[in-house]
Amino acid sequence: MPDNGYHEIIGVIHIHSSYSDGTKKIEEIAKIGEHAGLDFLMFSDHNTLRPLQDGHQRFYGKTAVLIGYEIQDVNDENHYLAFGLDRTLEKGIDPAEYVSRVRAAGGLGIIAHPDEVRDALPKYPCFPWTRWDIDGYDGLEIWNHMSAWMESLKRINMLKMAIMPRRSLRGPTDRVLKKWDEIAKTRPVAGIGSADVHAHIYRKGLIRLTIFPYKVQFRSIRTHLLLDQPLKKDITSAKEQIFNAIRKCGVFVSNFRWGDARGFQFFARRKNRIYRIGETVDFSNELTLNVHSPRTADIRLIKDGRPVLIQVGSRFEIAVESPGIYRVELYINKKGWIYSNHIRIHPKKEG
Ligand SMILES: [Zn+2]
Ligand SMILES: [Zn+2]
Repeated sequence: MPDNGYHEIIGVIHIHSSYSDGTKKIEEIAKIGEHAGLDFLMFSDHNTLRPLQDGHQRFYGKTAVLIGYEIQDVNDENHYLAFGLDRTLEKGIDPAEYVSRVRAAGGLGIIAHPDEVRDALPKYPCFPWTRWDIDGYDGLEIWNHMSAWMESLKRINMLKMAIMPRRSLRGPTDRVLKKWDEIAKTRPVAGIGSADVHAHIYRKGLIRLTIFPYKVQFRSIRTHLLLDQPLKKDITSAKEQIFNAIRKCGVFVSNFRWGDARGFQFFARRKNRIYRIGETVDFSNELTLNVHSPRTADIRLIKDGRPVLIQVGSRFEIAVESPGIYRVELYINKKGWIYSNHIRIHPKKEG
């Protein structure tokens, strides 16, 4: 594979610990993350930055642990992951305000489970994002393990789903991908994968199961970031590198269940110049789009929200025929494996 001049790091975003409704301590979870070979973990407990005040934002071995928190509005909707803040915002403020205040503070904001639909468990209502009138967020979860699981949950398959939580992961919903492509046409917006790990405990009679053990979650939906330089060893610099990669949409999402996606590449090329995921390039005739996959898959090229090419293989190079925003989806046995962020190809400037 060509050296495309970037450094890939892999992590899991949206983790709950025992500081809110998760079931393990941050140090234990971090150890599991390091063991799974993850470069970074992003925690977002509900309405608290206590783990930050307690000094958990640091490296645990080789794994960078970043602490943010999950905000919700007065109706329990519009969940928002806020990273990079020193203190929590006042409770009960409008989503427009928390989105703008996270940005004003130099933080990073991600819309959580934007299109959640679930009906099997009245005890667990859904928490969708309803405020699409607001702008100013950096990214949105295109694939949330917890939402995907809840959506495919029916009473009849509950036990099976509890034993095999990764089975539900067919891919992001068409609804959220459509929304993402629509917004991305107007401005870059990162699509990230999230675990929303709580490691829920399921009890029924004598059965007691941890539905989402952290160990399993860390081998499922992962977010890959493309950095200009190797991840720095001090947490403040590492944090900025991670935030910047997400802000610039140098991101792809994978489900580890179908294979390690490390080394996957999607790039535009003009002669010897390479433009990676998240970059913008002016259209011209010599421009090609390229995919290099670590294994054979069904590769779908999506332009402006529509599939324009479907090919089986591990690599392709095709000429770009017109400007647009392009991304790729890779499938293994019809199950979603890799989702890249967009490469933006602009109409050539006049003159
Ligand atoms: Zn939530
Ligand atoms: Zn959550």
